[in-house]
Order: sequence, then structure tokens, then C-alpha cells
Amino acid sequence: MSDFGDDDSTGQVEVEDPQPVEKFVPCHPFGDPSADFILRSNDDVEFKVHRTILAMASPVFRDMLMLAHDPADVPVLTLTEDHTVLDWILRACYPTSTPDLKDLDFIYKVVQIADKYQMDFVMDNLTTPLQKFLESDPLRVFAIAYRFKNTTLASSAARQTLRIPANEIIQADIPEFRSLPVFALQRLLLYRKQCTDAAVALTSNHAWITDLTPCWWKNHPVHDAKTARCETCTVITKTILNQHIYETYHPRQWFVDRMAEVGQLLSKCPIGSSIAWKRIPKSALECSICGPSAANDLVAFSKVLAAKVDEVVGEVGIDHYLSLTTINGHELSDIPG
Ligand SMILES: [Zn+2]
Repeated sequence: MSDFGDDDSTGQVEVEDPQPVEKFVPCHPFGDPSADFILRSNDDVEFKVHRTILAMASPVFRDMLMLAHDPADVPVLTLTEDHTVLDWILRACYPTSTPDLKDLDFIYKVVQIADKYQMDFVMDNLTTPLQKFLESDPLRVFAIAYRFKNTTLASSAARQTLRIPANEIIQADIPEFRSLPVFALQRLLLYRKQCTDAAVALTSNHAWITDLTPCWWKNHPVHDAKTARCETCTVITKTILNQHIYETYHPRQWFVDRMAEVGQLLSKCPIGSSIAWKRIPKSALECSICGPSAANDLVAFSKVLAAKVDEVVGEVGIDHYLSLTTINGHELSDIPG
């Protein structure tokens, strides 16, 4: 048997009639008898609307409705949008509740139409739904927020993008970025570089460390590395400017090496949670001074370092990079679409 129907003796195939698709009928308020205009979606769904309400919601609608000269009692205007997104955007114009927005693709459709019809108030309605996607899709949320100059949301999204490795950001194919000027991504990367520099600096400059009890600092302060007794560890000398006083410490080489590895992790994702201390250096475990407490000391220190990373990254001023009205001192009249 054919997938397309029974084959008769003539060799012709009888195709079954497709099942009729139930046509979507918009519910209240788009069947109101007092409506004086009909907007038809590109998939042939009609919304009975009121000119006054649409004219107040959108200057583009206002002009379109004024220009429409349909001799019918209730003129009809066919739009290029499908009924799903048209239903949401028109509902937003009326004093009725709008359905929850649970899909970022759909939100982006709404955003594009709100932009097309110059319905700025819709973007305000989208801030809360977009916040739900900050963790899962920070790049897309950033692009949308940047596009519509929502600095607060763009800032929150930019901070969330720090969890994404830098190389993945460069390679990401984000549809919302296609309509952004190139300096939007440039600014995001400049902000990220500042965050990365601040985080990585903590791993090479140890002046911020106040607790010198962990095993890798033992026998400090001493001014002769040779007196820092460690049976097998290499001890190095490090000078730290601590509250305007230069102090000399002798961290173990394995700790300095481990910090350099953490610096590599932070250069990819400058956030505290990217720090992992699961691997304890072999030389530390073999040392009778460091070995007994190396694991516990490292785990405890990692929490302190992670908090410090988030602190210094949080201090990086993001608004400077996300100033949505100027770049290099030049006013932007608008972001090209
Ligand atoms: Zn040691």
C-alpha cells in the first residue's frame, strides 16, 4: 500500500481530502459589535477593532487607519503578521490582560512588531517576561534590551553573559544581534574585558588576601625564603604592598601555579562560580607541612576568592559601556534597525 492512498488498476493514486483545520476565532474584545475597523492577519483571521484605541496605541496604526479608504461599512486592512502575534499585540492595546509570554522566539516576534508599529509601551510590558530568560538566554535578552534602550535590563543581561565563555559569545549566532549595530557587541566585549582583567588580577596580585593562615603561607613573614620550612615544596618570595607597606611572603610554588590556572579559568568566564579546586597539586599532598591541610585550605580559600571575584566584577561600571545614547562622545539620534 502506498503512503498516499490506495493504488487502483489504472495506476492512479487516490489522495484523501485533508482534514479541515479549525479556524482561529479571536475572543473578546475582538468581536465587539461597536468595532469600526477590521484588521486581517496574513493567515486570514479577522480582528474587529476600534480606530480610536489603535490610534492612541500606535502612530503607525493611526496613519494606516486614516489612509484606509474602504467603501465598506467596516473597512478591512490586511497586515503582514500572523494571527498569534497580532492577537497578543492588539490585546496589549486594550484594557484587557495579555497571555503569559513563555517563549523567547514569540517575545522577539512581539518586539519586532512593537518596533514596526512604534508601540513603545509594549516594551515596558515585556521587561518582566524577558527577565525570566536572563539566565537561560542572556545574549538574546541583552540584544533585545539594547535595541530598545532598556539600560537596566541590558545591564542585567550583560552581567549574566559573563557565565558564557568568551569564544562562545564570538561564535554565537544570535538572531536578535543581526539588527543591532556592530558597536553593541563591541561594547559588550569591552565590558567583559574590564571584568576579566579585574578578576584575573586577583590571581597574580595577592595584596587583597588578609588570611595568611592557610598552609601555603606558613612560616611567614620571613625575610629569608630558606627559613620557610617546607620539606618538599618549592618556596618563592613575593612582595606585596599591604596598606602602604611592602611585605614579603613566601607562598609555595604549587599555590602560585594553581592561582595561575584559576586565572586561566577566569579569563574564560570572569565569575566566582567558574573557580574549581577539585584537583589538589601532587606536590602539596606529598609535603608534610602542606599535605594534611592543603585540601581543606584550598576549598575554604576558593570560596573567599570566588566572593572576591564577584565583588570586583560587580564594581566594574557597566553603564559606561551600555550608554545607549552616546558613543565616543557622539550623540546617537537612533540605533539603525
Ligand atoms: Zn609544603
